[in-house]
Amino acid sequence: MSGIQPRDRQALLAARQRHLGKMLSLSYREPLKIVRGRGAYLYDESGREYLDCVNNVCHVGHCHPRVVAAAANQMAELNTNTRYLHDNIVTYAERLTSTLPNHLSVCFFVNSGSEANDLALRLARNHTGREHLLVLDHAYHGHTAALIDASPYKCNSKGGRGAPPNTHVLSAPDTYRGPYRRGDPDAAIHYADQARDVLAAQEIAAVIAEPAMGCGGQIILPNGYLARLFAHVHGAGGVCIADEVQVGFGRVGSHAWCFETQNVAPDIVTLGKPIGNGHPLGAVVTTPEIADSFNNGMEYFNTFGGNPVSCAIGLEVLQAIEDEGLQRNAHETGSYLLAGLQDLATRHELMGDVRGLGLFIGVELVRDRDTLEPAEREADNVIEGMKARGVLLGTDGPYHNVLKIKPPIVFSRQDADRLLTALDATFSGNTI
Ligand code: PMP
Repeated sequence: MSGIQPRDRQALLAARQRHLGKMLSLSYREPLKIVRGRGAYLYDESGREYLDCVNNVCHVGHCHPRVVAAAANQMAELNTNTRYLHDNIVTYAERLTSTLPNHLSVCFFVNSGSEANDLALRLARNHTGREHLLVLDHAYHGHTAALIDASPYKCNSKGGRGAPPNTHVLSAPDTYRGPYRRGDPDAAIHYADQARDVLAAQEIAAVIAEPAMGCGGQIILPNGYLARLFAHVHGAGGVCIADEVQVGFGRVGSHAWCFETQNVAPDIVTLGKPIGNGHPLGAVVTTPEIADSFNNGMEYFNTFGGNPVSCAIGLEVLQAIEDEGLQRNAHETGSYLLAGLQDLATRHELMGDVRGLGLFIGVELVRDRDTLEPAEREADNVIEGMKARGVLLGTDGPYHNVLKIKPPIVFSRQDADRLLTALDATFSGNTI
């Protein structure tokens, strides 16, 4: 064990405020000190158990024993970099690409979702010789300088400097709140066709889009949207990037990759969060042509990306998803949970919209179902009420009024029942 002496919450908080930047936020009015995790559960310092409905990073469950063992064993054996031949990186690249369409056959391994997207933009810009980007409103793609500029969630929000001239923002295809809604059979077409004017006026290097939007408010894209958008971009000589950092690795249940639900073939796919079950790992997978354009004489070296430990972990995560049937679980438990939430929404007016794919679900809270006035304060109270009932959730979206549900995909039917019972009690305003 490490020699770190445990401190109580107040002492930790005071020391944290002294030594860590204040822009690092803490969840909850009374922050939690979490000291242990297992499966879909987290435990605080007193041993109190919480059902984790929001951590989409520890995808196959917190501290999955097989993943932990793979990490420890490889760490004890060797950890180097990509400048030596090693079985792990090559085996992992083969195994990862076997889950993707054939044209996506070349991998770059990095350390985070941000690094993956940053590299994807470099690849697209190198390949096309162009600079401009198409992005979706409210999207978040990462924290590097290039990605803040490509993330309206940041650059067009508090503290942001606005999107730079080479970032072109399309409406988020939000069929609940956006300009084109579910009743309109052509909503997907109207949203996708917004790209036409930009593409006519400007040469675009790439579009980057999440095949279901996370930070933007758990938005499920209307059928046919990405296919039409990608067709416009391909027609104009641009590259199509699917950001699967939140929604990949079987979370959406029906498919391994969320872009498959939209029936598209991206040129670049970026991976992060769940890929290493909590270990810092990310990947970019692309075509041989795009990878070859990048081979222009400047070496690509990434000190940690693709090291033997990270690759051993990545392999074990893929194996656990397969051996434990976790994509099927995401499909079955997700459908069960979605139906349960839709039922709750018939009794609780605040629950304006319930939407989701597999275990990627959003519940949008509104004060009025006609005006859609966002219920931000109420959403915050729900999160606190759920915490008091031992269930952890978060909010997101431009109005902070969408409950995000994206648990580890080992989430069981009993866990779903526990979440539904706690939500029902919280929305009913029951005291604990
Ligand atoms: N892409 C998406 C869609 C994300 O949600 C995030 C993180 N929230 C990132 C990229 C950045 O990933 P990371 O925080 O690992 O750098």
